[in-house]
Amino acid sequence: MKRLVVLGGGESGVGTAILGKKEGYEVFVSDFGKIKEDYKNVLNQYEIKWEDEKHTEDKILNADVVMKSPGIPEKAPIVKKLVEKGIPVISEIEFTVQFTNAKTIGITGSNGKTTTTMLTYHLLKQAGLNVGLAGNIGKSFAWQVAEENFDVYVLELSSFQLDGCINYKPNIAVITNISPDHLDRYEYKYENYIASKFRITMNQDENDYLIYDNDDEAISNWLQNNKTKAQLIPFSLLKKMKNGAFINNDTMEFSINNEEFAMKTTDISLEGKHNMKNAMAATSVAQLMKIRKETIRESLSNFQGVEHRLEKVLKIQNVQYINDSKATNVNATFFALDSMNVPTVWIVGGVDKGNDYSELMSLVREKVKAIICLGIDNRKIIDAFSDVVDMMVEVDNMRDAVNTAKHIAEKGDNVLLSPACASFDLFQNYEDRGNQFKAAVRNL
Ligand code: ADP
Repeated sequence: MKRLVVLGGGESGVGTAILGKKEGYEVFVSDFGKIKEDYKNVLNQYEIKWEDEKHTEDKILNADVVMKSPGIPEKAPIVKKLVEKGIPVISEIEFTVQFTNAKTIGITGSNGKTTTTMLTYHLLKQAGLNVGLAGNIGKSFAWQVAEENFDVYVLELSSFQLDGCINYKPNIAVITNISPDHLDRYEYKYENYIASKFRITMNQDENDYLIYDNDDEAISNWLQNNKTKAQLIPFSLLKKMKNGAFINNDTMEFSINNEEFAMKTTDISLEGKHNMKNAMAATSVAQLMKIRKETIRESLSNFQGVEHRLEKVLKIQNVQYINDSKATNVNATFFALDSMNVPTVWIVGGVDKGNDYSELMSLVREKVKAIICLGIDNRKIIDAFSDVVDMMVEVDNMRDAVNTAKHIAEKGDNVLLSPACASFDLFQNYEDRGNQFKAAVRNL
């Protein structure tokens, strides 16, 4: 019997353990932190052995294969020891694909993964396909392969998951865009992070597709200097693509494998240039999957969007409050500000990940009437924008942020929470930050 050791007892770890057990492995789950009660109960129910708050080396270094949960860094001592011993350390995706014949659509990128994944899933589901949703979202991929029977999966893939892939080959891959993020996990080398994203296409062949943003510099450079066998489907806001998608004034136009499709951007429920890119990516998948045009049209017009991503919360005294708490980097905030078409009170700040605010300067000058700094250390933001915006206020909790915004905003303005920073100085995570924002707005 082969021994599978699972590092990390969260959603993907528990799912992998269940699939491993079903496939006849001897399974052991080890978590250096605490495993949640619910997951402990599940493991016990499936008679899977586990430990938490430690890594017992004797029970780990005898593995035939190890699944490392994406949250555990390569440089964790136990991972280093496994690698030194030559034991394969793989991701949930890599482990799971050996046990399913389902088609997979793999979606990665620095921003827009969740939105594009959810929209793609919506398009395929509305068309009546027997489709599952997994990866960084919702229920574990491995768990679903063990217990469900989907024909197609839409997978949201982080670079950490791709790092643990060796043979995985999506039928359709999407790279939404690439901008610097998580560089601490890539020796502070941008090229390592870019290479990690492109692992999504490394095993693809002539029958597979790679959909990508043709306007993105990092992506174009990589494609010029490296090879993929996949058929290329680019999308662009700027120019017509031979076999791909672009925005022609106010129409989204597709020409893919000699099939044409066009739709007015005003009929698409999502707003903002970035979301037009996400819509082009998802619609390209739908076309490759031969979904009927009427169904695509209907699905693009009724998609509800995803919580905490430019989410319209409430309009109070004709001021629109918008929750973009998921904007944890400058690029995401760039597109949020870009999509504002009235004067905006901007709530920004948190844990700075090495932000360069200069690319926001002209948007801020044009659209922002006041800045509310919501973080423990706001110096960088104040230094960057104090010459550009007249009014800057510092606060250290969400209630004060929203109350201050209310006093400053006038009829017709927007109040936008788009922090460009991580949340853990004042909040548990971005969901907590967004929920506190929404609660404070509802209390006004
Ligand atoms: P991810 O899963 O990659 O983090 P999300 O869909 O959750 O992506 O969006 C994260 C943030 O980035 C949100 O603030 C969202 O408004 C913004 N965003 C979404 N799509 C894009 C895009 N294509 N380019 C830049 N920013 C985007």
